[in-house]
Amino acid sequence: MHCSACDGERAFEQPPCPDGHGADCPERVCVDCGSAVLVGEPPSASHSPASGRTTAQRTSA
Ligand SMILES: [Zn+2]
Ligand SMILES: [Zn+2]
Repeated sequence: MHCSACDGERAFEQPPCPDGHGADCPERVCVDCGSAVLVGEPPSASHSPASGRTTAQRTSA
């Protein structure tokens, strides 16, 4: 994986996550310089906007 701090290909490892993400934690640290990067999507996706939700019209009584 490319490390922007090292400006080259480096190995990255998953650090212990203090936020309880576990295996889903997107954080990786460069084993060479220790620079932290995020990979993939953040696990804290509360809403999935493009889920094809239809706007149901309901009459409020
Ligand atoms: Zn995390
Ligand atoms: Zn690095």
